[in-house]
Amino acid sequence: MKIIVNGVTIECRRADITLEDTDAVVNAANSRLAGGGGVDGDIHRAGGPAIMEECRKIGSCPTGRAVITGGGRLKARYVIHAVGPVYRDGAHKEAELLAGAYLNSLKLADEKGLASIAFPSISTGAYGYPVAEASEVAVKTAVEFAKSAAKLRLIRFVLFSDSDLKTYERALKRAVAE
Ligand code: ADP
Repeated sequence: MKIIVNGVTIECRRADITLEDTDAVVNAANSRLAGGGGVDGDIHRAGGPAIMEECRKIGSCPTGRAVITGGGRLKARYVIHAVGPVYRDGAHKEAELLAGAYLNSLKLADEKGLASIAFPSISTGAYGYPVAEASEVAVKTAVEFAKSAAKLRLIRFVLFSDSDLKTYERALKRAVAE
C-alpha cells in the first residue's frame, strides 16, 4: 500500500532490500559499523567489500544517527547505515533513538538530493524492538519528514515477512487517519 504526503510517496512492500533500486537503501547497522547478521550481513554480501572499506574509514556511528557510503555492487547508489537502539524495556529512550535513526537517514538522503530511499525494519530483529511499536515510530517519522522534504519523493519500507508487512501497513493506515 502507499500514501502520498506533500508529493512524497510513502509505501510498504515485502521484499529483500538488497534488490531495491531506490537511490539509497538503509542498513540496520551497529555503532561500530562492523557488519553483522540480518540485513547488515545481507547488504555487505550483496554489495561487496567496497562498502565495508568505506565503513572502516568512517569508523563508527552513535545510536540514533546515520552515515552514508557508496552502494558497491548494489543497484542502489548509496547505503545509509543507520544505528537503531537495542530494545531494553521502552524506558531507555528507545523510541527517541529509533526516530533519530530514521530522521537522520532521511535528512542525509534529502541533503544529498536523492529522490528515493528504502528502509528495512530497523531494530526489530536482533535488537529486539517490538515491531508494532517500531512501525509506529518509523511511519510517523517518515510522514512528518515528508511534509518538509526538499528533493525526496519516495520513502519505501521493505519488510521481510508478511506479518511485518501487515504491521507496517496498519501503522501507515493509522498515520493517514490522524
Ligand atoms: P537489528 O539489529 O537492527 O534488529 P536485523 O537485521 O537483525 O537488525 O533485523 C531488522 C529487520 O530486517 C528484521 O525484521 C529482519 O527480518 C529484516 N531483514 C533481514 N534481512 C533482510 C533483507 N535482506 N531485506 C529486508 N529486511 C531484512
